[in-house]
Amino acid sequence: MKYDYLIVGAGLFGAVFAHQAKKQGKTCLVIDRRNHIGGNIYCETIEDIRVHRYGAHIFHTSDKEVWEYVNQFVSFNHYINAPVAIYKDELYNLPFNMNTFSKMWNIRTPQEAKQIIQSQIEELNIQDPQNLEEQALKLVGKDVYEKLIQGYTEKQWGRSCKELPAFIIKRLPLRFTYDNNYFSDPYQGIPIEGYNALIEGLLQGIEVQLSTDYVQWNKQTEHQAEKIVYTGMIDEFFDFCYGALEYRTVSFETEVLDCDNYQGNAVVNYTEKEIPYTRIIEHKHFEFGTQRKTVISKEYPAEWQKGSEPYYPVNDEKNQQLYQKYQQLAKTQPNVLFGGRLGAYRYYDMDKVIRAALDAAKQEFDC
Ligand code: UDP
Repeated sequence: MKYDYLIVGAGLFGAVFAHQAKKQGKTCLVIDRRNHIGGNIYCETIEDIRVHRYGAHIFHTSDKEVWEYVNQFVSFNHYINAPVAIYKDELYNLPFNMNTFSKMWNIRTPQEAKQIIQSQIEELNIQDPQNLEEQALKLVGKDVYEKLIQGYTEKQWGRSCKELPAFIIKRLPLRFTYDNNYFSDPYQGIPIEGYNALIEGLLQGIEVQLSTDYVQWNKQTEHQAEKIVYTGMIDEFFDFCYGALEYRTVSFETEVLDCDNYQGNAVVNYTEKEIPYTRIIEHKHFEFGTQRKTVISKEYPAEWQKGSEPYYPVNDEKNQQLYQKYQQLAKTQPNVLFGGRLGAYRYYDMDKVIRAALDAAKQEFDC
């Protein structure tokens, strides 16, 4: 059997690309080494609650085309991400906004908050931030950094904030309004039919082979494909010939609790260093669940090792340089297109993955 495309990985990038390719009349085979489709947005149902098995995914975008694209397959509820952070015995709203500042300094107005932050920033006198710590201090001052950023970030990345690139923290917005919405995108929500339905919709009518490794598939010589779309780890594709890129992994400790509401919010971050997990997700709150029980997942970050799940690429200088070497190597493979979080070694949000897959398809099919 001959396919136009072999798509390695049934996550968002692979599924969007496959969908677009099928629309162009191309034949595709999608393979995945896991026993389910969906990549890391896959959910499993426990106690009638959809559990984000590979970490919480909240869809948000400013890209209207991407929003309309996903809405062809699922509709979205009105969930707005408004996490809270617990530091020792104090509780703060995230992202950093007037609710946070009011609680931290017992103040009320944006002027008061700005004044406090400004005086802390001036005291530090950081001109050109060289790392995450300096960037964070320059953005929010000492109090917010020490209570809400330092411990969480060092746990999540397993590195000192002084060794981390500044751009990670640029994801964290700073606001002088009483607005707890973590994202500032106009479109946000959780699919009412679930993320699995989104992937099923994308892959409808497309052949999928699960529990199939790329290396294994390659050995099945009767199969052939004109081109490959590879969404696995780019370094693994090249047999780690220049060495392994670094990732952070997360292990999830998921529990069913015999109560209907454990923490009153979908996402609660634990920002002090002494608590080993970074956050607790209570899955039912993504969908305003009214089930009698609840399911929570504690997230324990760790360094990735072969055999564990690679979640976050560590985009520091050392790894970026190594990735560039793999990118050069990728150019010698004109019939292989690399994409997705692992193929592009990028800390991607879902909408950016979809955008990248749509763009790759546009380029490929000239449409
Ligand atoms: N972060 C932080 N304190 C928090 C939450 C996040 O300092 O309470 C920082 C941390 O460095 C983290 C980055 O912000 O790596 C991005 O976090 P976010 O929760 O947006 O990323 P996610 O893990 O959800 O992709």
